[in-house]
Amino acid sequence: MNIYTNCSLLHYNTFGIQVRADMLVEYESVGELKQALALYHERMGEKPLLHIGGGSNLLFLCDFKGMVLHSLVEGYKVVGEEGDDVLVRVGAGMTFDDFVSESLWRGWYGLENLSGIPGQVGASAVQNVGAYGTEVGSLIEKVEGVSLSDGSQHSWKGAECGYAYRQSIFKQELAGQYAITYVTYRLHRTFRPQLEYGGVRQAMAEAGFSEDTLTAMKLRQVILFIRRQKLPDPAIQGNAGSFFMNPVISQEEFNIIRSNYPDVPSYAAPGGVKVPAGWLIEKTGWKGRSLGPAAVYDKQALVLVNKGGATGADVKRLADTIIADVKQKFGITLSTEVNYI
Ligand SMILES: Cc1cc2nc3c(=O)[nH]c(=O)nc-3n(C[C@H](O)[C@H](O)[C@H](O)COP(=O)(O)OP(=O)(O)OC[C@H]3O[C@@H](n4cnc5c(N)ncnc54)[C@H](O)[C@@H]3O)c2cc1C
Repeated sequence: MNIYTNCSLLHYNTFGIQVRADMLVEYESVGELKQALALYHERMGEKPLLHIGGGSNLLFLCDFKGMVLHSLVEGYKVVGEEGDDVLVRVGAGMTFDDFVSESLWRGWYGLENLSGIPGQVGASAVQNVGAYGTEVGSLIEKVEGVSLSDGSQHSWKGAECGYAYRQSIFKQELAGQYAITYVTYRLHRTFRPQLEYGGVRQAMAEAGFSEDTLTAMKLRQVILFIRRQKLPDPAIQGNAGSFFMNPVISQEEFNIIRSNYPDVPSYAAPGGVKVPAGWLIEKTGWKGRSLGPAAVYDKQALVLVNKGGATGADVKRLADTIIADVKQKFGITLSTEVNYI
């Protein structure tokens, strides 16, 4: 277990925001996590407790006056085989994309379209990460966690986790209550490529890959290539990926927008019509523009970036301004995907 006091979180958030935590504890096992919780209850009184992963979906607005937990529980193990399916239990502290890569090498398929998403395995189950037509919730068999209040161990079947677009019970009714320790994924031995989404087929053709000879590793390369074109590398320019969620609006609201903007893109979604937030932001003229040291990425309006030295408040000011402008122009209130801390 590593314990740091008055610790900089600069390298624990991909926005590159310079803030400090009173205490940061990294643990390598469930036993160490329980020790860390005992330390928290003994030393920290009423101060807040926060579990982070790779910090790739967080925006720190100020120093964190409490304890931050970070999992170093790594490794994976096959825990079951059912027909074509393989059940693999993975430590929540493993880098998600390392596991995606490992799984494909081993011939366990399903996660290939999620290649290149930053962060840890534990957070994948909290966030229900998704990309290019796949959401991880559809591949989660079981989530294991430890209660932050009393250290008791719990588990949830995938179907109990309330997975929806970037949502789960761990972001809703159980938010902040559990440390996720292990995630069991249900993967498949048969490779069934999903190519229908977001320019995948076009990028495949450009790479000279045909559908007949496509392998999961080739598909991973295509996805990584598309992502590199669209998204800034946090190691070069601080960001947290998509800052806003794509709003789902009613058919009536959509019809009004379409009457003014016949080119508005849309997708059918449960409860209405999903409109890309990036398109809405682009129409307000924010794409590529800055507000102080925070800016809207010039290749993808859904992404906000730290141009250097931005505080969380600078980024939030930009986000609030965009939300107000989109509301004024389209009557739609954007919600943030990024978690404000
Ligand atoms: C360049 C870039 C591209 C991205 N692309 C995508 C994308 O395509 N699709 C997508 O869905 N997301 C994307 N994201 C967002 C981000 O990668 C995901 O949300 C990811 O799951 C966050 O993982 P993390 O480990 O960094 O979690 P953090 O940002 O550290 O935490 C996210 C949330 O999970 C909680 N949490 C983390 N670990 C645990 C744990 N072990 N136990 C309990 N709670 C925990 C935190 O408290 C917080 O609420 C992108 C981000 C970046 C920077």
